[in-house]
Amino acid sequence: MSLPEKVRLVEVGPRDGLQNEAQPISVADKVRLVDDLSAAGLSYIEVGSFVSPKWVPQMAGSAEVFAKIQQYSGVTYAALAPNLRGFEDALAAGVKEVAVFAAASEAFSQRNINCSISDSLQRFVPIMEAARQHGVRVRGYVSCVLGCPYEGMINAEQVAPVARELYAMGCYEVSLGDTIGTGTPGATRRLFDVVSAQVPREQLAGHFHDTYGQALANVYASLLEGISVFDSSVAGLGGCPYAKGASGNVASEDVLYMLQGLGIDTGIDLERLIAAGLRISEVLGRASGSRVARARHAQ
Ligand code: MG
Repeated sequence: MSLPEKVRLVEVGPRDGLQNEAQPISVADKVRLVDDLSAAGLSYIEVGSFVSPKWVPQMAGSAEVFAKIQQYSGVTYAALAPNLRGFEDALAAGVKEVAVFAAASEAFSQRNINCSISDSLQRFVPIMEAARQHGVRVRGYVSCVLGCPYEGMINAEQVAPVARELYAMGCYEVSLGDTIGTGTPGATRRLFDVVSAQVPREQLAGHFHDTYGQALANVYASLLEGISVFDSSVAGLGGCPYAKGASGNVASEDVLYMLQGLGIDTGIDLERLIAAGLRISEVLGRASGSRVARARHAQ
């Protein structure tokens, strides 16, 4: 299979990234980050999460962030909506696209959201109905697709029914997440090969973590499987919550650098993306998690 000509990067830094950073950041800094990302040419930005700030204090103020960002036409500004209450809050904030989150691992589902995989999918039914009524698009996530911090290896056969269910209930796209970053390129190819028997490849996305240094190799393996949408996080925001000090989300700058080298079009300006990442890293008081950004700015 030849490589896709175009790839869409789903920028998850402001949500998946900042949510997993120890340090909470101000609404103004979040707004600046999202505006920087829009200016860099990202066409999809996951801006925040409508979840109780009691559980996820880093995501407090998501409605305010939505109200203050500059919304470019043609750019999707999405939010995570873990339950109907969250969906209603997102709707009230004018959000046009939400994401829901399931796991491929039973143990992870129990420990992370306190219910079985099938119960978690049932909880999405009213969200899907409300979304249809209000013309809101829903993107589905499946976590732990290649490994689980509690169960170890996860087989593609465990992932396929969860992805199929999300797609069948109306998610227009299902993103498969290697939450602990243990996946390797062979397992990644097999994953998409197996899951694409249930969900069309055009409706699948890859979400890779670099905890074991495999993320870019896994993105490339996915490209070979005809996958053309990838989640990534500017400056590699969001460490790995299951391995202290380890890297989590693959850095958007690094994915973009590789895609540019492959001659694949994304519409994103690498220099502006690097600048956006350096700015938020400075706010967090740490070095960028992007190797490309560090290489370009090493003195
Ligand atoms: Mg992630």
